Amino acid sequence: MARPLIAVATLGGTISMAPVDGGGAVPRFGAAELLGGLGDLPMDVLAETLAGIGSASLDFATLLRCRDWGLRQDADGFVVVQGTDTLEETAYFLDLHWPSDVPLVLTGAMRNAGLFSPDGPANLRNALTVAADPRSRGRGVLVTLNDDVHSARWVRKAHSNHLEAFSSMPAGPLGMVVEHAVHWFHPSPPRLPSLDGDDFGGLVPVVEAGLDDSGAVLSSVATQPEVRGVVVAATGVGHVSSGTADVISRLVPSLPVVVASRTGAGPTLRSTYGFHGSESSLIAMGATMAGWLDARKSRILLHALLAAGADRSRIEQEFRSRGDLD
Ligand code: ASP
Repeated sequence: MARPLIAVATLGGTISMAPVDGGGAVPRFGAAELLGGLGDLPMDVLAETLAGIGSASLDFATLLRCRDWGLRQDADGFVVVQGTDTLEETAYFLDLHWPSDVPLVLTGAMRNAGLFSPDGPANLRNALTVAADPRSRGRGVLVTLNDDVHSARWVRKAHSNHLEAFSSMPAGPLGMVVEHAVHWFHPSPPRLPSLDGDDFGGLVPVVEAGLDDSGAVLSSVATQPEVRGVVVAATGVGHVSSGTADVISRLVPSLPVVVASRTGAGPTLRSTYGFHGSESSLIAMGATMAGWLDARKSRILLHALLAAGADRSRIEQEFRSRGDLD
């Protein structure tokens, strides 16, 4: 059987880092060094170092360049290596913009090469396995760390430091890598069409609602001229204070406002509560509910839709289909 060809692009992150001169860990290793430690592989690998930075410094332009590089290689699978801090956002951004059935698999590491038991080599080896598995095709962007395989749609970094840092609660991981084979637990739902926007200028901030919240922060952030839309990380099932509700009602006629839950799990509701600032009152004002998407992924989706020129009704419809499960 022909060996699969896997393209690997590295962007930096802890997996590429080690301490220098007794100081903290900094990016030191590119694609060749990371792959060089894996020994003989059952696939052909074509690798490129595209960046060597902490993942908080990644941006949409770099990710689109990375996507284009991956598409150009015409490989059987594509692995992207980066820091774990923004990996959930990168995965979702790439998932929205990956037009191919070729598996795109992200990985990173929680422990740098200077610590005991660094997890980078095992994670990278697993990512190659997932990318080379023909059953990964058509599943969109996948993430593997700590032997779990997650879908971009659900994955989030749920612990700052632990090896088991990534969670797909409540959906659960799609599969697990065992003895260099993927054990799939779930089929993937049908993929929605990819987005093709290129106008990523402007800002889409996330503003968190909370106690003693007059709405003044939301108002001052959302009325900046660069702001094209705003995501409110609302309390509970999509609730804000009555002051914030007043601000949202003033913003909505001229600005898309998406309301997500700040809880980190569970959807926004649509029709359970009726007070001023409740989910149903915000919907009546014209706010868009994020459904099961958290505020971080909502920010990515809203910016991607605005970049693609989506109008208000398309934004509403896309959040319904990508954020709700009905
Ligand atoms: N601590 C981060 C990591 O896990 C650093 C980064 O995201 O680049 O890779």
